[in-house]
Amino acid sequence: SAESSPPGRGHGLDIEGITHRFGDVTVLNQIHLQVNPGEFVALLGPSGCGKTTILRLVAGLLTPTVGQIRIDGQRVEHVPTHKRNVGIVFQNYALFPHMNVFDNVAYGLRAQGAKTTNVRSRVQDMLELVQLEVMGDRFPNELSGGQQQRIALARALAVEPRILLLDEPFSALDKNLRLDMQIEVKRLLTEQGITTMFVTHDQEEALSMADRIAVMSNGVVQQFDTPTTVYDRPSTLFVSQFVGTTNLISGTLIQHNRESCVVSLADGEQMQLAIDPDMPINSPVQLAIRPENLRLSTEPSPNALPVRVDICLPLGAATIYEVRTASGIPIKVTQPRGIGVKSLVPGQTVYLTLASAHACSIFHVSDTDPSV
Ligand code: ATP
Repeated sequence: SAESSPPGRGHGLDIEGITHRFGDVTVLNQIHLQVNPGEFVALLGPSGCGKTTILRLVAGLLTPTVGQIRIDGQRVEHVPTHKRNVGIVFQNYALFPHMNVFDNVAYGLRAQGAKTTNVRSRVQDMLELVQLEVMGDRFPNELSGGQQQRIALARALAVEPRILLLDEPFSALDKNLRLDMQIEVKRLLTEQGITTMFVTHDQEEALSMADRIAVMSNGVVQQFDTPTTVYDRPSTLFVSQFVGTTNLISGTLIQHNRESCVVSLADGEQMQLAIDPDMPINSPVQLAIRPENLRLSTEPSPNALPVRVDICLPLGAATIYEVRTASGIPIKVTQPRGIGVKSLVPGQTVYLTLASAHACSIFHVSDTDPSV
């Protein structure tokens, strides 16, 4: 979490009211993001939602149509890239192929006019940081994909950037190497207290690495909060669908008071929830419920919904069931497995309840965002 990060340097990064247009197409609309010093923020969203455009604006590769960007408190919209002191690792930002590893890492330092002895010790430090100190003489084509990404990171960090920008830096790596790199980079950036903005369309990567996540769609930020809040309390239907797996169940709000509400599902089945949605009776709603927040019991109980087991997928530590209500609404339920936990079988009638009274989000259907 943000609290566990070491205090970073400077004032971080402020993006204030950024709107960006290409011609007459608006690709970013009123973006506000404040990144604390030393914080690791992920921009998460589907392809084309504007993530990379934000990085390019921060890097100075684009000038915003409207709005302000501050790095360490300093306005930078009209400061050229090379004077912003940002480190950039783009997915396709390859190493210079004709330079060995040492010269690649030294590149930015030499461009800044650093003294030869300083360059040597700084490059050595950076190579130690990414644990490739013995590779200085190699050329990029003599390195694995993961090693190349580590060198790209060392090159970006060598100039002590005020902000580090990472654009899908792991997407070219295979799954195992990817996880190693995620852990490695997270450790390194946390230790160094480096303010980082990170683009990904991979929700697991964002959830596992970021202090906070900005979930984006169509050029707007839908929610900007910690991974747990984004996951447990999605602020919009879009966020609840895009982050994690969720059951979406349509219904109508037929009753509510300060503690609870009743939603009528298709064909009149009813669900009672311990939440009070701030909307009028008869509103069309969508319930969003995570599969792990549902429970199945073989015994009926007052608020339980009778369902039929359709499919079971034993996955080792947990079993995923797909069950159907009497009217055929499919619902996914994840149940932990363990000694004494009886497996359910297809065709069996069981009773569905919420694991906790608050383990559900309810959205007014007119609030519906573009679906995923
Ligand atoms: P991806 O995950 O696919 O990289 P993204 O979220 O990073 O997507 P951007 O690259 O920021 O998306 O692009 C946002 C929108 O702006 C897209 O619709 C894209 O086609 C458009 N766009 C990007 N660059 C330009 C440009 N130079 N001229 C016109 N349109 C552009």
